[in-house]
Amino acid sequence: MKKTRIAALETLLVDRWCLVRITTEDGFTGVGEAGVHGWPVATAAMIDGLRGYLIGQDPDLIEHHGQRIMRSWHFSGSIIAGAVSAIDLALWDIKGKRLGVPVYELLGGKTRDSVRCYIHVAGDSVEALVADAFARRDEGFTALRFSPFQPDFHLRASYEEWAAEAERRVGAVWEAVRGDVDLCLELHRQMSPAESVALASRLRQFHPFFYEDPMLPDSPRIMGTVHAQSGLPVATGERFTSLFQFQDLFHHDGCAYARPDLCLCLGLTGGKKIAALAEAHHVKIVPHNPLSPISTAACVQLDACIPNFALQEYTGESESPKVDLVVRPLELKRGYLTVPDAPGMGIELRPDLLDRLPPAAAIPMAPLGRDNSVQDW
Ligand SMILES: [Mg+2]
Repeated sequence: MKKTRIAALETLLVDRWCLVRITTEDGFTGVGEAGVHGWPVATAAMIDGLRGYLIGQDPDLIEHHGQRIMRSWHFSGSIIAGAVSAIDLALWDIKGKRLGVPVYELLGGKTRDSVRCYIHVAGDSVEALVADAFARRDEGFTALRFSPFQPDFHLRASYEEWAAEAERRVGAVWEAVRGDVDLCLELHRQMSPAESVALASRLRQFHPFFYEDPMLPDSPRIMGTVHAQSGLPVATGERFTSLFQFQDLFHHDGCAYARPDLCLCLGLTGGKKIAALAEAHHVKIVPHNPLSPISTAACVQLDACIPNFALQEYTGESESPKVDLVVRPLELKRGYLTVPDAPGMGIELRPDLLDRLPPAAAIPMAPLGRDNSVQDW
């Protein structure tokens, strides 16, 4: 392949997304996304700060550039990892486009033709939640994700109040769609380890596919205890920024499903390594994907080339603002995303996206409980 150099690097802050667009001297453009959605402006500043290093560099040296950036200064964390992830995805997109092949061809080749997705369902009342579950099942989705709790969960007065509510909500959905779909329960770090283990004893009867983030993810050792004592398949890892955090999690048998965010765990380069590490621990991969269609496209490239893929998070891309971001979203058929044949990551940004989309949204704040204490979400 003829050599080229990086000619331009732009950051784009739209909606809650921090995107990067890199262009080469021979006219190819790659796009990436950073997954630090609480701090898009700070992450964009980090990416902009790397412009001086990246302009003029060989875009093929993806692993090298990631290593150079991560190891040049004595700090780490989500802003740096988000910036490196966005750059990594854009460089993979460029490499695929310059070679005329999808990225998964460069990462081992296809292990599947389509990617099974789970979709979010929601409802403040049990009736609304069940109605949404029916609607999504009828669209063809075979896995549904929802919170056992209502949005004002943090205002509950007692364990019994929220645990009984959770049992009612999960039980209602299970009764409604049992036999047709898998239930993916998102606990959103809202419980202590003890509460989470206790709640699991009430929810095991509904056979959830996974039990996501049953506690704050900061202690792999205690997550391992919750995994063992809950008797449910724990899914976690969406906030992790390195291979080493996943290694610690797997060492403590902290999950059945790992949730790398490719916009945070050092891109497709990091994601492929995490998937291999998970494979060696009999852990399957459920990529975290709450962000834009760029993140979805990156996830599908990984899902398409690993043997231990389980499910793909998907939040729908047929409505604004997502539909305003890319020229053509990935094809969704009855709850499965088709693995694209197009070069690179298989998507293109709309040239007029900055006219169509709002600027970066404000940073959301954690809710307060009825005693004014800070709650997790
Ligand atoms: Mg989650």
